[in-house]
Amino acid sequence: MSQEDIQSLITSAEDAMQRAVAPYSKFRVGASLLTGEGKIYSGCNIENPSLMLSICAERVALVKALSEGHTGFKAMALVSSDGRYCFPCGSCRQILHEFAPGLILYLKSEGGVRKYDIGELLPYPFEKE
Ligand SMILES: [Zn+2]
Repeated sequence: MSQEDIQSLITSAEDAMQRAVAPYSKFRVGASLLTGEGKIYSGCNIENPSLMLSICAERVALVKALSEGHTGFKAMALVSSDGRYCFPCGSCRQILHEFAPGLILYLKSEGGVRKYDIGELLPYPFEKE
C-alpha cells in the first residue's frame, strides 16, 4: 500500500473514533477496514450499560463490511483516544483471523505508525479443522 493509501485509511479510523460511544470507559477507538475492492468500512467502539454487550471498533467495521457482501480484506487501521498503540483484543484477533486471514494492521500512536500481520498478533488461532 502507498503511504497515501495508508494515511487515508488512518484518517477514516480517526473520523470513526469521533463517533465512539464510550461514556463508561471514556476510551474511544476507531477502526477502518479496506476491502479487496478498495472500499473502506469504518467502525468505533460502542459501549452499553450492560458492559458485556459492548462491541469493539474492529468488529463493528468487520460486520459492516461482511453484511454488505465483502469477503476479501487487505488492511485495517486502528487509532485510539489515549494516543497509544491500540492492539486488538483477543476476541477481535480471533474474528479478524477468521474472516481476514493475512490482514495487515496499521496502528497509529503519537509515536508513529506500526505495521503488523494478523498472524503475527494471533500466531495460534482457534481453528475448527
Ligand atoms: Zn476487540
